[in-house]
Amino acid sequence: MTSNTRVVVIGAGLAGVRLARRLGELGTPVTLIGEEEHRPYNRVLLAEVLAGRYSPDVIALPAPAELTRGRVTGIDREVRAVHLADGSKIAYDTLVLATGSNPVLPPLRGLFSPDHVLPEGVHAFRTMDDCLGLSKAVRPGVRAVVIGGGLLGVSAARALAQRGAQVVLAQQGERLMERQLDPSASKLVKRHLKDLGVEIHTECRVRDVRCVGGAVRSVEMSDGYALDADLVVLACGVHPRVGLAQIAGLDVRKGIVVDDELRTSDPHIRAIGDCVQHDGTVYGLATPALEQAEVLAELLSQSRTNARYTGTRALTRLTLVGHDSPFDLAAFGETEARPGDDVVQLADATRGTYRKVVVRDDRLVGGVLVGELGTVGALARAWEGAEPLPADGAPLLHLLTNDGGS
Ligand SMILES: Cc1cc2nc3c(=O)[nH]c(=O)nc-3n(C[C@H](O)[C@H](O)[C@H](O)COP(=O)(O)OP(=O)(O)OC[C@H]3O[C@@H](n4cnc5c(N)ncnc54)[C@H](O)[C@@H]3O)c2cc1C
Repeated sequence: MTSNTRVVVIGAGLAGVRLARRLGELGTPVTLIGEEEHRPYNRVLLAEVLAGRYSPDVIALPAPAELTRGRVTGIDREVRAVHLADGSKIAYDTLVLATGSNPVLPPLRGLFSPDHVLPEGVHAFRTMDDCLGLSKAVRPGVRAVVIGGGLLGVSAARALAQRGAQVVLAQQGERLMERQLDPSASKLVKRHLKDLGVEIHTECRVRDVRCVGGAVRSVEMSDGYALDADLVVLACGVHPRVGLAQIAGLDVRKGIVVDDELRTSDPHIRAIGDCVQHDGTVYGLATPALEQAEVLAELLSQSRTNARYTGTRALTRLTLVGHDSPFDLAAFGETEARPGDDVVQLADATRGTYRKVVVRDDRLVGGVLVGELGTVGALARAWEGAEPLPADGAPLLHLLTNDGGS
């Protein structure tokens, strides 16, 4: 059995902090190493900080007492030690990689300089530093272009609009949040953003970012159309941060490959969170990261040696709180029906609400709720349990209107 006397965790994000805290509670000593200067924080809530709704302190995570600040630059698997950028070395018996994701930078000529620094005014949206940088730059009337219309781009666009920026959202795909939402739900998100003053361009590919004197001036589309921009947010997705694992020779495909005990191809190294690939899936979401941390804490503290991670049925939830127009949405599983599926849908255009579930062979396989989330708890439980739906003749509509216990 792996000795767990010296557990070292790289990455003080959601997964690493949860693991370190749980290990502490279970009496297992742990060294947590994080490169970010800020107190560990809940990344999911960064858009609320950008919108001016929360201060950075409010989203701080309850962190373990001991946090080593620094960047790990290498793993020596022979002697079982990690090297830090300041030249120091920390030995481990069990190492945990919780290195998260990096933002995807689109291949636009104007973005790349020899020193790998983004032009002035161009920001990724992943870290507290990105958020504070954007926050400092945004003022009423500033012209902001958000590139990417997924969850991240939608959150950023709405936050910037709330701060008074003139926002244009450029989305390459046909609709907003196409990974999570069906066309009707996507339309409601679009309407919500438009009501906040955001201009939305779908099926539009950005070709270049134009700079003058090192600062962004405009964003050029593939049809030659140029949008003036003082601020550009890159929200083009993320990829797992696997560099350390790759250099150390671990099995890495889309992410760091782990088994049900979160073990990598080296039995002394585990991995959790955005950086991992489990059973072919890279989640990139908070719930799986936290669930993996919980399972690993039980294994490493030996409080439940048969704990296993068998995958997460991830529900995406987004709350867009406008000053006068709160807008909630939740989506899970397959939101578009296949031939032969049963679909129940309720839409109220006046109230801007939309609810839909997809049922296949008596099982709930997916759903999307916009504006009215009363039933989300009951639906998520039915979906997570993957149990056959009650055969007592209860109409499917009941699924959408029964909000008991949620
Ligand atoms: C703006 C925004 C909104 C989001 N909204 C949602 C949402 O609504 N729902 C949802 O489920 N998910 C959301 N996500 C995704 C969610 O934040 C991630 O899935 C989650 O943070 C993953 O946790 P993690 O610990 O694996 O990675 P991270 O939180 O990224 O933490 C990794 C940490 O490791 C550190 N690190 C990496 N390499 C090193 C090294 N070599 N040395 C030292 N430290 C290192 C990094 O600096 C970072 O602090 C959102 C993300 C963003 C950016």
